[in-house]
Amino acid sequence: MGKKFDLAIIGAGISGLTLAYYLKKKGVNVCLIEKSTKAGGVIQTKKINGFICEEGPNTIVLNNNAIINLINDLKIDQKIVISNSQIKNKFFLHKNKIIRFPNSIMNFITTPLFNFYSKCKILYGLIIFKNRKHKTIYNFFNSNFGKQFHDNLIEPFLNGIYAGDTKKMILEYSLPSLFRIIKKNKSLLYYLLKSKKKTKRETISFKDGNKTLIEKLKKENYNNSYYSHEIKNITQNNNKYKIYTKNKECFICNKIVSTISIDKLMELINHEAKYIKKPNLYNPIDVFHFSYNSIESHKIPKGFGLLSKRTEKKTFLGILFSSSIFPHVSPKNKELITILSGGEKQNYLINKDIDILGQIIKKEIKELFKLDKLKLINKKRWVNAIPKYNHEIKNIRKEVTHIEKKYNNLHIIGNFYNGVSVSSCIELAKKMSEKIN
Ligand SMILES: Cc1cc2nc3c(=O)[nH]c(=O)nc-3n(C[C@H](O)[C@H](O)[C@H](O)COP(=O)(O)OP(=O)(O)OC[C@H]3O[C@@H](n4cnc5c(N)ncnc54)[C@H](O)[C@@H]3O)c2cc1C
Repeated sequence: MGKKFDLAIIGAGISGLTLAYYLKKKGVNVCLIEKSTKAGGVIQTKKINGFICEEGPNTIVLNNNAIINLINDLKIDQKIVISNSQIKNKFFLHKNKIIRFPNSIMNFITTPLFNFYSKCKILYGLIIFKNRKHKTIYNFFNSNFGKQFHDNLIEPFLNGIYAGDTKKMILEYSLPSLFRIIKKNKSLLYYLLKSKKKTKRETISFKDGNKTLIEKLKKENYNNSYYSHEIKNITQNNNKYKIYTKNKECFICNKIVSTISIDKLMELINHEAKYIKKPNLYNPIDVFHFSYNSIESHKIPKGFGLLSKRTEKKTFLGILFSSSIFPHVSPKNKELITILSGGEKQNYLINKDIDILGQIIKKEIKELFKLDKLKLINKKRWVNAIPKYNHEIKNIRKEVTHIEKKYNNLHIIGNFYNGVSVSSCIELAKKMSEKIN
């Protein structure tokens, strides 16, 4: 005997919660199975002594209709907090100095990020793409805009999103919009001049942090959700799936949508995969929250944050100026910064004690900004944080398609397919809800 549903969703992160919400609205007999006691997956907000600490995503970008509609459908639009306008200021660490991203012609002319030769190369690259065929991020930017452009701007920038290695990351999958522009246009400048000015895409969070979105979805899915139910294996017989959990429950259903890491799913269905294998899949990230006194706030520039690059030899990948982006995340007279470390190039850090790492980073940040006092208030380790969009991605996606064909009514969504951002996961989950009857 077991609990019977038409469809089971595995994982109550943003992908699973969104899908369950829309399927339930459609009247599908659906259940949501989650191993943790909590919903949200990597979206976790902690309140610590008046600070709102985001252990996963800090910012959500309203860049597609799916996320805007979901927020409206859930009636949580009143709880949105829009980021401070200063977030347009982004900073790079260059020769141990804090350099502002050159976002005007004047800044570009004077920026120390690039020498004269490199600036000429960037301008030439803007006028005409010399080479449009390169596959990796490194090869494309290096050959069209020069090494300094790649090393001092693109690499730290993409480290901030994917924590990946640009020599391995595939342009088509990591920057799909740019890839489409390159395919259709011979010049980036021409494209920019002819394209209409886009409407502003707001960057948001919520008054109580990003958990607002999760808690509302959790509430909407309350009756059909099973938390603390870690799935241990899945079998298929006579077009029915049986899902067995570690706490000895069994779910029987016709269809499954998985949102969990794809290597884990292979284990659960006992499928011997060729490409869906651990080293090809995810980068680890450690997240640290530090507080400091507002009296010292003049020592840290106002803006979105600061990105580091390999040659700076820092333990951190990037720093988010959290209370500069969203002032409500810190109590009066205090400031909050969020540090990300790890990623593909420093994946060995995952084997280091996180407390020791926290102390090393604290020293680096104190020295960099010349802060008198800095307090570590929270830390979190994500072993499978962000998918790698590396050279194996094409084969991995092909293999996923093959598995979906082989296992009738088994679908796979999550952050491996449509982009890693929260809004991309929501968009994919919404599309899946429309596809399923
Ligand atoms: C540190 C960090 C910072 C980020 N920053 C941003 C940002 O600023 N902006 C942005 O847009 N995006 C950001 N992202 C990316 C984005 O948050 C994620 O891509 C997205 O939230 C993934 O959601 P998901 O539901 O697909 O997967 P997950 O959140 O991973 O959810 C999967 C769920 O499946 C459950 N599960 C796993 N195994 C089992 C099992 N055997 N049985 C049952 N359940 C299981 C897990 O417990 C989990 O709850 C960040 C990610 C990280 C890690």
